[in-house]
Amino acid sequence: MFKKAVFPGKYIQGVGAIGELPALIKLLGKQGLILASHSVNDKVLPGCGVDWSARAIPIELFRGECCEDEVTRLSATIAQKHVDVLVGMGGGKTIDTAKIAADRSGIPVIIVPTIASTDAPCSGCAVLYSKDGVFDSVCYQKTNPAVVLVDVEIIAAAPTRFLVAGMGDALSTWFEARSCERTQSANECGGYSTTVGLGIAKLCYETLLTYGAAAKLASRRNIVTPALERIVEANILLSGIGFESAGLAAAHSIHNGLTALAETHSFYHGEKVAFGVLAGLQLTGASADESATVFSFCEEVGLPTTLADIGLGNADQRKLMEAAEKACAPGQPIHHEAGVITPGKVLDAMLAADALGQARRGAGVAARHQLA
Ligand SMILES: [Zn+2]
Repeated sequence: MFKKAVFPGKYIQGVGAIGELPALIKLLGKQGLILASHSVNDKVLPGCGVDWSARAIPIELFRGECCEDEVTRLSATIAQKHVDVLVGMGGGKTIDTAKIAADRSGIPVIIVPTIASTDAPCSGCAVLYSKDGVFDSVCYQKTNPAVVLVDVEIIAAAPTRFLVAGMGDALSTWFEARSCERTQSANECGGYSTTVGLGIAKLCYETLLTYGAAAKLASRRNIVTPALERIVEANILLSGIGFESAGLAAAHSIHNGLTALAETHSFYHGEKVAFGVLAGLQLTGASADESATVFSFCEEVGLPTTLADIGLGNADQRKLMEAAEKACAPGQPIHHEAGVITPGKVLDAMLAADALGQARRGAGVAARHQLA
């Protein structure tokens, strides 16, 4: 196995960046097509100062699920309209559908995330679901998106809970990267970490600690500040390159285990990942100082720090064990952690993180926790 890192072709971020889209479509092809979610079509596209029909760029409405039927439908439209550049604009599922359809059609894709809730936009993979929203498979594309275009004004206008969840996803990046480096485990693009992958993961963590709280305040007031811009970049670019090029470990496996419990389904990916980070630190014997720093960060920005915060306040140990077992299934990246990881150890780590979270709240340490 070689060292390996992957990147999007271009990353463009700023206020009003959406105005660059027509020129980018023209740069990459002759006929563009925008796949947009309903809310993007209703609220974002009309207000961004571009007359799409005058520019002969058709808009296709996303039907709500990233599933085989939707990808097939979109691929047929691409062929019929001779589309040679596809744009995916919206949240995670719209973006993933665009990535898969463009890859199958052999055309470049431009990703325009309208929320910063995960680090998926820059990556070269996408999650396919069944028609009813049950996880099917992860699809790997031949290349990462040609362009990721982020208009910070659009992100600032979105609900704050999305940005905070994105910080939870980004919080895992450094700890998982560090674990993969320590054990020389594979990253998410099939290689060993490069210096750049690790360095970006570290920068992601430092950026969150420095600017996370201020960015949340800016998002609450729907204003763009330098702190918000740094956090948008951390959530989308730094975390995106970091997870794919430096690897996953305990936090995402614990997230995957938690998804087995129906009680957690109303919580976002990044919210469950954040609890996975806190449990992961207990699992791997992180120092008390480091654990306290991460707890403080979560408390300050409003990420979950107890099981009750992710809907599991009344869960008994038998139920939690189900999640711990799923987290330790063969092939889960939790096995990138040092030593032998067992469901029993993971259960204890989740309970330990929960106990610490409760004790800190009980003691009134930064007791400002609330989901935005
Ligand atoms: Zn993630």
